[in-house]
Amino acid sequence: MKYFCIIFLLSLLFKDVYAFVLLSANPPRFPSGSITIKVNKDNCSNLTDTYTDIEALLKEAVDEYWNQVYTSSINLKVGENIDVTDNNATALFNAADNFIAVGCAEASSTNTFAAASLGCSTLNGTCINAKGYLYVNNKSGSVWENAARQTKIAILAHELGHAIGIGHSDKSYALMYFATNNSDIQYYLSEDDADAVTFLYPDDPSLLGLGGNCGAVASTPGTKKKNSSPLVGLFLGALIIFLIRKLLKNFQKQET
Ligand SMILES: [Zn+2]
Repeated sequence: MKYFCIIFLLSLLFKDVYAFVLLSANPPRFPSGSITIKVNKDNCSNLTDTYTDIEALLKEAVDEYWNQVYTSSINLKVGENIDVTDNNATALFNAADNFIAVGCAEASSTNTFAAASLGCSTLNGTCINAKGYLYVNNKSGSVWENAARQTKIAILAHELGHAIGIGHSDKSYALMYFATNNSDIQYYLSEDDADAVTFLYPDDPSLLGLGGNCGAVASTPGTKKKNSSPLVGLFLGALIIFLIRKLLKNFQKQET
C-alpha cells in the first residue's frame, strides 16, 4: 500500500512532463538547429503583403519566439529567396531541401490564416533530408488579410513550430495550442513550447556539434562566465598543501 501511494504521487508529479506533441513519432530533423527560412519571390496574388513584408514578419517571429529558447540549439534565420513559379503547397514542399520554404497557397477555408508542415525525401524508406514548408492563406477574403501585425507574427511563429516538427499542444496557454479563433491565439512562448523545441534540438555544447549546435546565438544567455583562471586554482591548491605539511611538521616537532 505504501509503495502504491508513492507510485501514485510520483505519477501525479510527472503527469505533465511531456505535454507537447510532435508532428509524428519521430519527425525529420534538419542537419542542425541552424535552420534557414527561404521566402518565395512570387507575391501572393490575393494578399496585400508582399514577399518582403512576409520576410519582415518572419524575422520578428523567429527573434521574438523560437530563437529565445536558450535550452535549444534552434537558430532560425531568414535567408536568400527561392523562385517557385507555381506558388502552392506542393511546389513549396518540393522546393524545400533542409530549409523551410515559405510562400502562399489557397486553403479550403477563408478562416485559415496560414498552414505549415514538415516532410522529407526518402531513400529506401529512410528520410535523407528535412523539408519544411509554410504558406499564408491566399484565398480571397482570408482572415490573414485583416489580421493585426502582432497576430500575423504569432501565427507565423506557430506555423514555424509545425515546420520544424512540433504538433498541437493541449495546453491552451501554449503557442502551439490549436487556435480556432482569434481569442485562442497565444502571443508568447510557454514552457511547453520550449520543451518541444529543446527535445528536437537540444543545446548541448559538450557534444561539440554532434548533438547540439555550439554556435547558436540562443545558447549564450544561459552560459555562466568563469572569472578565475585554472592557474589561480592550482596556486591555491599548492598553498593549502604547503600549509598542511608545515602544520604537520610543527605538530611532529612538539611530540618529540
Ligand atoms: Zn497549428
